[in-house]
Amino acid sequence: MSKPDKVMNEIMSLAKRRGFVFQSSEIYGGINAIWDMGPLGVEMKNNIKRYWWYHMVQLRPDIEGLDAAILMHPRVWEASGHISEFTDPLVECRNCHRRFRADEIKNGKCPVCGSDDLTEPRMFNLMFKTFIGPVESEENTIYLRPETAQGIYVNFLNVLNTTRQKIPFGIAQIGKAFRNEISPGNFIFRSREFEQMEMQYFVHPDEADKWFEYWRQQRWNWYLSLGIDEGKLHWHEHGPDELAHYARAAYDIEFDFPFGRKELEGIHNRGDFDLSRHQQYSGKSLEYTDKVTGEKYIPFIIETSGGVDRAMLAILCDAYTVEPERNDPNRTRTVLKMHPRISPIKVGVFPLVKKDGMPEMAREIAQELRKKFTVFYDEKDSIGRRYRRQDEAGTPFCVTVDGQSLQDETVTIRERDTMVQVRVKITEIAPMIEKYIDSWERDKGIE
Ligand code: ATP
Repeated sequence: MSKPDKVMNEIMSLAKRRGFVFQSSEIYGGINAIWDMGPLGVEMKNNIKRYWWYHMVQLRPDIEGLDAAILMHPRVWEASGHISEFTDPLVECRNCHRRFRADEIKNGKCPVCGSDDLTEPRMFNLMFKTFIGPVESEENTIYLRPETAQGIYVNFLNVLNTTRQKIPFGIAQIGKAFRNEISPGNFIFRSREFEQMEMQYFVHPDEADKWFEYWRQQRWNWYLSLGIDEGKLHWHEHGPDELAHYARAAYDIEFDFPFGRKELEGIHNRGDFDLSRHQQYSGKSLEYTDKVTGEKYIPFIIETSGGVDRAMLAILCDAYTVEPERNDPNRTRTVLKMHPRISPIKVGVFPLVKKDGMPEMAREIAQELRKKFTVFYDEKDSIGRRYRRQDEAGTPFCVTVDGQSLQDETVTIRERDTMVQVRVKITEIAPMIEKYIDSWERDKGIE
C-alpha cells in the first residue's frame, strides 16, 4: 500500500471508529458514495457550516441568507442548462473526472489529461429524477437539485424586494445537493448526496472583475483562518477549454489531499448568464434599476461555491497527526489538530479517579459547561487513555478533577496540541476556553 493510501485508510478508519462518518445503510451492505454523519461528524459539520455562515452572512451587511427548497420547478433546470447539458452519451475520464460527450473522445484518449482510462459511453443525466404527485409521467418529472445556486437566482427579486439591499450585494445558502456521479469516490470527497455552501454576489457588469478578485481573496483567507496549512492550498485557473459554457473566469481553490490535489471550492465570474436565462425562461424581468442613475441592467454574478463535506475532509486530513509520545518515543499519539471552533467536542471532563466525590464534582462541572460547549464526560480507563481518546477526536481541552479540586475548587486544564496543563478556578474554565478559541483565530483579512 502506498503511503498516501495508508494515510487515507487510517483517516477513514478513525472517522468510522470514532463516529465521524458511517456508510449509509451499512447493515444492508451500504450504498455506494452516500454517507451518514455520526455523533462527532454532525457536530463537526455543523461547526463548519456555522463558521461559514458567520463569515459569509452574519458579519456582512451586504449578504442575505436563504434556505430554498431542494425540489424546484422543472423549467429551472432547462433554463440553467442542466437538462440539455447532461443528456448526451457521456464518457468520464477516471483519471481527471472530466466528462465528455462520446464524440469528443479522439483515439480513445481523454481530451484534457490524455488518459485512456475512460468509462463506457452511456446516456447519462447527472440529476436524480423523481415525480411530483401520484402520476409517474413525463410532465410530472422533477429533479433533486444538483446545486444550491439555482434557488438563489430564482429568489433574486424576492430578496431584493424584501430587504434594503442595493447592488452590489449577495445571497448565501447552505444545503443539500445531489449528483448521480459516474465515478464517485475518495471517501466523502465525491459523493452522490452532499452539502454545498454557496454565495452569489450580484454586481454591476463593469465591476465584475474587481469583485471577482475580491472574493477570490476572501475565500482563500477563509480557508487560512481555519488553520489549514497554506502550503497545501493552491489556485487552479480554468483555461479556455475547461471553462463552463456560462463562465467568464473561474478559479478553484485546491487542497493537497492524500489522494492528490483536488478542488475544494470554485470562484466563478458567471456574467449575466443565470439571470438572463431565468428572465428568458420565466418571462419575468430580472433587470435591476439603479435608483440613483436610473440605469437598468442584468447584474453579473460572482459565485463562491464550496462543499461542506470536502471542507470537512480537508480539515480532517490537515489535522490528522501521528507523533511520538513525549515520554516514550517508541509509542505514538494520534491527534486531530484542528481549529477548536470546528472540533466536535470542546471539552472532556474527567474525575482523576472514580471515588472520593470526584465523579460527582466532575459531573457537576460538565453539566455547567454544557450550557456553553459540547462536553464529553468520561470516567473509564486511566487518565492517560482518556486524554488520548480526546486527542483522537480533536477535543482541544480536557478538564480533570483531582484531590486538590475537592479542597480548593480548582481543576487542571490540559491543552490538546501542547499537552500543557494549568490549574485554574472552576469559574475560570469557560472564560479561559472562550479566550483561547478566539485567540486561535488568526486575523487573515476576512471582512
Ligand atoms: P468536481 O470537478 O470535483 O466534480 P465540480 O466542478 O463539478 O466539482 P461544482 O459544480 O463547482 O463542482 O460544485 C461546487 C462545489 O461543490 C465543489 O467545489 C465541491 O466542493 C462540491 N461538490 C461538487 N460535487 C460534489 C460531490 N459529488 N461530492 C461532494 N462535494 C461536491
